[in-house]
Amino acid sequence: MAMLDRTARSVLLGELLSGMALTLRYMFRPKVTLNYPYEKGALSPRFRGEHALRRYPNGEERCIACKLCEAICPALAITIEAEPRADGSRRTTRYDIDMTKCIYCGYCQEACPVDAIVEGPNFEFAAETREELFYNKDKLMANGDRWEQEIAQNIALDAPYR
Ligand code: SF4
Ligand code: SF4
Repeated sequence: MAMLDRTARSVLLGELLSGMALTLRYMFRPKVTLNYPYEKGALSPRFRGEHALRRYPNGEERCIACKLCEAICPALAITIEAEPRADGSRRTTRYDIDMTKCIYCGYCQEACPVDAIVEGPNFEFAAETREELFYNKDKLMANGDRWEQEIAQNIALDAPYR
């Protein structure tokens, strides 16, 4: 009986037709795939992407060189050197992150008392060489300037849950 059933399905192209029916059904459903990189999916405000150092609205850098982020980093990826400025405030003279060591745990962001170091929404920072992933202060500040609007928005969205 089973053999007869299989033969009938083969002769009548049953599997082909059921396959085409399935294709037709999905043709009119909303697409679950995205045409990346032209389309991008929604990201959580807590997404932990590329690091950035932020400024205050008046342009002053937020980081006060307390080194909490350096101390808490489990991957020892952060290196900071600091000196007092002429106005007496303490600022970093060196702020490096070795992105090849970073495990994107977010501890640096959590530890920072002034929301200076953050993991922004950028996930498209693949590089061709290791050297490009050794970030210095200039690179991190530039990231902050570039992504400030999105970062500030994400921090505001997440604030009620902190
Ligand atoms: S995300 Fe984690 S591993 Fe990466 S720099 Fe921050 S503390 Fe270190
Ligand atoms: S980024 Fe934040 S935690 Fe790290 S040294 Fe600067 S102020 Fe301190």
